[in-house]
Amino acid sequence: MTNIYKEKDADLSILEGVTIGMIGYGNQSRSQALNLRDHGLTVIVGNRNDEYKKRAQADGFPTYSIPDTVKKARVLFFLIPDEIMSKVFKKQIKPYLKKHDALIFASGYNIAFGLITPPEFIDVLLIAPRMIGIGVRETFLNKEGYFSFIGVHQDASGEAKQKLLALSKGVGGLTRAGIEVTFKEEAVLDLYSEQGFSPAFSQIMMRPISILKEAGYPDEAILMEIVLSGKMKYIFKSIIDNGIINQIFYLPERAQYGALSRCLRLRHPIEKIAEIQREIVDHIENGGFAKEWEAFTAKLKFKFIKFMASRVGFAKLEKRVRESLKMPEVDLWEEVPYPTEGDIKKKKEILEELRKFQGFKEF
Ligand code: NDP
Repeated sequence: MTNIYKEKDADLSILEGVTIGMIGYGNQSRSQALNLRDHGLTVIVGNRNDEYKKRAQADGFPTYSIPDTVKKARVLFFLIPDEIMSKVFKKQIKPYLKKHDALIFASGYNIAFGLITPPEFIDVLLIAPRMIGIGVRETFLNKEGYFSFIGVHQDASGEAKQKLLALSKGVGGLTRAGIEVTFKEEAVLDLYSEQGFSPAFSQIMMRPISILKEAGYPDEAILMEIVLSGKMKYIFKSIIDNGIINQIFYLPERAQYGALSRCLRLRHPIEKIAEIQREIVDHIENGGFAKEWEAFTAKLKFKFIKFMASRVGFAKLEKRVRESLKMPEVDLWEEVPYPTEGDIKKKKEILEELRKFQGFKEF
């Protein structure tokens, strides 16, 4: 059985007189800091001396360097990008931690894949909002609330669970519910929705566009029908409100018949995609993806793949249609720079992988 927690399960009084330190003041941190303060808790911010720090000061928080924040606070929200966490942890956090401090992550990634190993004398907690940073604040203010994944990785103080629930409530993470998971579960689910679901969804959106194009329909009309009209936005909202199956019954009868009968036809062919999705989840679970991403070659591969994605035929088609419909567009061609001479020299190692990419041409 999954443990699900609500606000009534948390006791904020255990945080009275406790200084809470936010490490970083970006998307998540700002919203969480403001929510904690609105609950009457004492919050300070640790950041480098730059725009983010100025923002924290303008919001009225006392600010310090990261090491000074670690020294002053008993609870630390570690809210900087996952990619740089292990370096910052080693140099600016670990040496200053005290017995029974609590360190909170909003993503399980670094702990799950062994990139950070915290000392045994601290509590290590997970409070991972299923919500973007701005939404954490907005849904707190409008009382709609959001869901969170929460969990204890290490309980040195013997009070980790009570701290977890109080802090989850403090950031607004129990208003809808806190679902208990391990760090590994959170990390795998997060990576899997990025790698197993979203790309399959993008392919499934692009494929009918190519089919209709080959059949001679006008580009503008195709893109309008499949994506640009925003009809999908309402279907997605209906999925959230009513359920994946139930949303079909809110469509006109002809659409219901068409959707249900063709859904059956697609059930078996989709197994091919599911095979790849299974490989993807296995690769994430056994730490293969984390290893791949941490390696230098993956960063280089990423650079090439991003460059090529900005120049595939589909990107050009979208750019042209959006221009002709006077819709806002991002000029990826401008934004994603050409790989440098140095990158190109090193590309041998990743060439095989790049050859699988649609429209790949030798650099
Ligand atoms: P941001 O990208 O918004 O973090 C920016 C903060 O990180 C700034 O304060 C910045 O300060 C600091 N930072 C960047 N580089 C460094 C550095 N080298 N040394 C020290 N500080 C640095 O992060 P998010 O809020 O997006 O993500 C934070 C955590 O929340 C991550 O674990 C993420 O996975 C998780 N999360 C994020 C969600 C989201 O919607 N964004 C949703 C759920 C979880 P400065 O540059 O001044 O140093």
